[in-house]
Amino acid sequence: MNPRKLPRQTLSIGYFVLVAAILFTVQSFFVPKVTELSYSDFKKRLGEGRIHEVVISDSLIRGQLSPEKGAGVPFVTVRVSDDALVPDLEKNGVTFEGQYESPFLNAIVSWVLPALVFVGIWAFAMRRMGPGAGVMAFGKSRAKIYAEKETGVMFHDVAGQDEAKEELAEIISFLKEPERYRAIGGKLPKGVLLVGPPGTGKTLLAKAVAGEASVPFFSISGSEFVELFVGMGAARVRDMFAQAEAKAPCIVFIDELDALGKARGFGGMGGHDERENTLNQLLVEMDGFDSTKGVIIVAATNRPEVLDPALLRAGRFDRQVLVDRPDREGREAILRVHAKDVKLGPDVDLKVVAQRTPGFVGADLANLINEAALLATRKGRQQVTMVDIDEAVDRVVAGLQKKNRLINADERRIVAYHETGHALVAALTKGADKVHKISIIPRGVAALGYTQQLPTEDRYLMTRKELEAKIDVLFGGRAAEQVVFGEVSTGAHNDLQRATDIVRSMVLEYGMGETLGPMTYPRQRGPGFLGGGGPSWPEQREYSEATAQLLDQETRRITEDRMARVLALLTEHRAVLDRVAAILLEKEVIEAEQFEELVKADGTGRHVA
Ligand code: ADP
Ligand code: MG
Ligand code: ZN
Repeated sequence: MNPRKLPRQTLSIGYFVLVAAILFTVQSFFVPKVTELSYSDFKKRLGEGRIHEVVISDSLIRGQLSPEKGAGVPFVTVRVSDDALVPDLEKNGVTFEGQYESPFLNAIVSWVLPALVFVGIWAFAMRRMGPGAGVMAFGKSRAKIYAEKETGVMFHDVAGQDEAKEELAEIISFLKEPERYRAIGGKLPKGVLLVGPPGTGKTLLAKAVAGEASVPFFSISGSEFVELFVGMGAARVRDMFAQAEAKAPCIVFIDELDALGKARGFGGMGGHDERENTLNQLLVEMDGFDSTKGVIIVAATNRPEVLDPALLRAGRFDRQVLVDRPDREGREAILRVHAKDVKLGPDVDLKVVAQRTPGFVGADLANLINEAALLATRKGRQQVTMVDIDEAVDRVVAGLQKKNRLINADERRIVAYHETGHALVAALTKGADKVHKISIIPRGVAALGYTQQLPTEDRYLMTRKELEAKIDVLFGGRAAEQVVFGEVSTGAHNDLQRATDIVRSMVLEYGMGETLGPMTYPRQRGPGFLGGGGPSWPEQREYSEATAQLLDQETRRITEDRMARVLALLTEHRAVLDRVAAILLEKEVIEAEQFEELVKADGTGRHVA
């Protein structure tokens, strides 16, 4: 939640109170002190000859008391119906006059004038607070317009993220010259979804797209909608799109789309109607407008998995751009961007800093440079030295570890060997998919690293050999841990589950078991992935307990065979395993070509099992 946006309503109430207080004080300053007399008091003083002169109106008698010393004291009294008043005044020699009380003038003085003053001050306060504040602006979009100059962010401000930039380049060229695209008749995506962990520069990238294309940038955050009254969210979405269409070509940026676009129907209690209305309105608007007009919707989220599938459908956010954690080189580039305005000492090597900050995202690195500059200032230095940077790294690391966002050095080693294990087994097994990329940059919630394989062709049938190769690759991670550390971690959990799944399918569904022959054994599936949607039947087997035991034995036998082979393979190629893991630890990412070189350099070549 953005603390700067929340207290607007509170603020306007505060202004009310302040203005009222000021009016009250001002009034008591300017209106002279008048003694209020009761009518009987007035009559008594009249009798005593202490009244000097009076002005009589319909309802009031104003006048001055005869001065005892100096000027007379003004008084006022409420006039009551008294026939003896005039004779009494005459009797006591008081000068008196009547006054015609204009009800119109009276109203102006006592009511309209203060109201005008009030409204004047109010309007002034409103303008000071900016558009969209206060009661009167309810229902109007708070989407801010940053004119071209104001976003001021360009692509060179976003370091690294080259892949994301490449994907966004097309959109920039469209925003620059929508006519050209229109002439050819090409359809551009309406929505682009930036997906990546917090602090990786999604917001920055969206602004940079607007900056590069020099178009207006409308931005709104999904979490802002959550605090709205009924109907306001939908109204604001409508209003924002109306504004955007008027300013096309432009970018509409929806930050934290997940806050708004959570899958409908979850959350229970029906307490999220407003969010749902807003989401529906967003879908309606996205479907309704014509992308050739030049409005591009960019949204950002760090939790794409919770988004309502309707948002990801064709014609909506059908294009996704991954904004991932930076690798070592990316971090170095980001450090350079942020160190631009900081005086660095000659001993500072940003390459080394990048090496020491695995797992940091852009925001962490910006924070790091700032911390270091503050430390240097505190110590009265003229430049930031490596000592300051080291201390800043320690501080930021401590903070991130507390939030469970970093893994320690030992864990990184395990992850590096684990991923290398997968990759090496894939390279050394016939029928396995080619390794595309190995990485120990954490991705998503659970995965600490990943090995990407690309199938060489589309497959509809798989042979037994190929299935076994898949199992081997899955076992590769755990086997590498076993070979190198003599023990295994919990990191292999998902691999084992997937491997076991394949083995069971081989035995039960594909009739690939050796002892049971070519028969299938239908198996019970767990509840559907939609989460307990379907009814769960009681366990029903169409085969005997004895067969079940045989099936289990068969499954175990295949599993053990595969694991034994993988362990032997990695033990044999231990040298290259160590080398690749070491490079992975240093570089964090190894691409296909480099990996192949490394395996070849081993001298064993592509070993075929
Ligand atoms: P996100 O929207 O992904 O959470 P932001 O775009 O808000 O991240 O990034 C927060 C800050 O971190 C930025 O203002 C910028 O200072 C810094 N930052 C993040 N990524 C980068 C990057 N790739 N290059 C330069 N600075 C970055
Ligand atoms: Mg952001
Ligand atoms: Zn694994």
